[in-house]
Amino acid sequence: MLTTRDKTKVIKVGGLKLGGGNPIVVQSMTKTDTSNIDATVKQIHELEKAGCQIVRSAVPSRESAQALKEIKKQINIPLVADIHFNHEYALMAAEAGVDKLRINPGNIGDKEKIRAVVDAAKAHKIPIRVGVNSGSLEKKIRARYHGHVTAEGLVKSAMNNIKILEGLGFNDIVVSIKATSVPMTVKAYEMISSKIAYPLHVGVTEAGVAGIGTIRSAAGIGAILARGIGDTIRVSLTDNPLEEVRLGYEILKAMELTFHGVTVISCPTCGRTDIDVIKLAREIMERTRRIKQPLTVAIMGCEVNGPGEAADADVGLAGGRGVGLIFREGQVVRKVPEIEMVEALMDEIESMAIK
Ligand code: SF4
Repeated sequence: MLTTRDKTKVIKVGGLKLGGGNPIVVQSMTKTDTSNIDATVKQIHELEKAGCQIVRSAVPSRESAQALKEIKKQINIPLVADIHFNHEYALMAAEAGVDKLRINPGNIGDKEKIRAVVDAAKAHKIPIRVGVNSGSLEKKIRARYHGHVTAEGLVKSAMNNIKILEGLGFNDIVVSIKATSVPMTVKAYEMISSKIAYPLHVGVTEAGVAGIGTIRSAAGIGAILARGIGDTIRVSLTDNPLEEVRLGYEILKAMELTFHGVTVISCPTCGRTDIDVIKLAREIMERTRRIKQPLTVAIMGCEVNGPGEAADADVGLAGGRGVGLIFREGQVVRKVPEIEMVEALMDEIESMAIK
């Protein structure tokens, strides 16, 4: 098991609690035009089905701010309005009933406008996430570090924004501090977590397309979580947001921070392999996606070493010549012809899942 998790302040986002040792929340962001209510609601429903617990939508225009009320009515998970600069959109979002605002008060500038947003957040009892990104770090801070983005600069920017909110008596805060560089992101989260007790939203920004983005997100988010830091995660991928949710859970499962759904493990295959492990592992992953119960399923390439090597798995399949061995905790329980082995394994999984 990992290091003890940092105890952060508990912040409510809709019906969810972030921080304070509560389970880590997986979130994502819609990629539709927010002013297109039907398309946005449809994507949020798909995200809900995939297990997304909080969804964020960009609010870059008056039309998108106006759409929030109707979107909120039609969805079941907390909605976060993502706003840059325009304080009016933040006021409209709060009025529309969103569950959290993501806005950096430093970007609003004018003190009275900041106060108006804070007053609206207080009145509607919604938190504000200060979200610092390496790409949009203030010029003034960059200049202090010779024009470069540094972890220290990111932390400085976050602290400035937090102080503005605290100065207005607002403490319902969540913080993120993301960079495109994985080591810089890890360092920034380490630094900020030693300075504040607000819940931290963790992610690597602009991670890239699935594949490389998956690796960068897993390395960054995994390293931060391994340090006991992080209360909610978002995997940012240049891909379908459903993939972000799936990967978010896979990272939490890999770090043993959640035990949710089926984990398919499989051997790398070698010269002893008797079955198409790659195809089988993919098929079983697909067919077990809807199972919520934690189960480890192993797909192993040979009958000699397979069951023993995967003895930790709850259930598994090892291929032999023309046959498949179904095993539970390392012990073979059934031997079936190759053509029947997938269904036999699925039968075992289903019987364990409904127990
Ligand atoms: Fe090779 Fe068998 Fe090990 Fe798979 S389980 S890597 S086929 S020895």
